[in-house]
Amino acid sequence: MHIVVPIKQVPETSNVQMDRETGTMIRSGSAAIVNPLDLYSLEAALQIREQIGGKITVITMGPPSAVKVLKEAIAMGCDEAVHISDRAFGGADTWATSYTLSEAIRKLEADIVITGERATDGDTGQVGPGIAAWLNMSLVTFTAHIKEISDSHIIAERLVEEGYQTVRAALPAVVTVVKEIATPRLPTLRGKKKSMQINIPVWDAEALHAKPEYLGLKGSPTRVVKIETPKVTRTCIMVKAIDEESVRNAVTQLIQFLDDRDLVPVQKRSGV
Ligand SMILES: Cc1cc2nc3c(=O)[nH]c(=O)nc-3n(C[C@H](O)[C@H](O)[C@H](O)COP(=O)(O)OP(=O)(O)OC[C@H]3O[C@@H](n4cnc5c(N)ncnc54)[C@H](O)[C@@H]3O)c2cc1C
Repeated sequence: MHIVVPIKQVPETSNVQMDRETGTMIRSGSAAIVNPLDLYSLEAALQIREQIGGKITVITMGPPSAVKVLKEAIAMGCDEAVHISDRAFGGADTWATSYTLSEAIRKLEADIVITGERATDGDTGQVGPGIAAWLNMSLVTFTAHIKEISDSHIIAERLVEEGYQTVRAALPAVVTVVKEIATPRLPTLRGKKKSMQINIPVWDAEALHAKPEYLGLKGSPTRVVKIETPKVTRTCIMVKAIDEESVRNAVTQLIQFLDDRDLVPVQKRSGV
């Protein structure tokens, strides 16, 4: 069983700045970490390997600095890593990103691909399904529990609005996971030593035999036409309620506030 886990390097801060001119994220200046939701896909992969054996290869598409997240995944227990990096990949949207990753996954001959539900920066959740589409693989999204897995199929419970939906899919498959899947383990000392010694190959566009017109900004149909920071127009009234008198005042103010806006139901109002 060859398990491939694509992970993304994301900015550590949630206060990400955008370049208004290009419509892209300003990534320099903020520390980068493994996309927090990818820790769950890594843990799911480690548990599958413990259950039925196999090999885990972790991959990321990103600039040279992204090798750091691959090393973290190795420290958690993954076997191998591949860094997909080339200037030609710069400016990729989800279409071009999923194409590029899918060419690496094709080359790795994956049986199962496990991705996070979404990345905390781009936040589209499109890359996992995109990979499945490019490779014509089965797709199981929002996976909360893996009930059964073998070389031929997977039976999984998907998180849906009303509860869980059990599905069976033939392998090879792409599985996107939600937090419920498992609790991510911490890196081990042995893993950390391995991560310091491991030689991580870098695959560029040529190594992937990728179509140049599908890569990076040139291959990206998405155009960011406008970026706006939402303005918070609501104002907040702080009311201190620390003793009997101030609680009474606070309740009176609250009722008055609701009453002024016609938000107190008539029958309640008459009882006040
Ligand atoms: C016009 C345009 C230009 C852009 N330019 C750039 C750019 O120059 N540099 C840049 O980094 N981003 C760029 N982006 C953002 C980029 O498209 C997305 O970050 C990327 O496609 C992933 O989408 P997402 O963050 O929504 O991931 P999601 O779809 O939310 O992620 C789901 C899962 O997919 C996997 N995944 C996602 N991205 C990667 C990755 N890169 N490697 C491995 N696994 C991954 C992870 O498992 C993740 O949990 C650009 C976007 C647009 C629209």
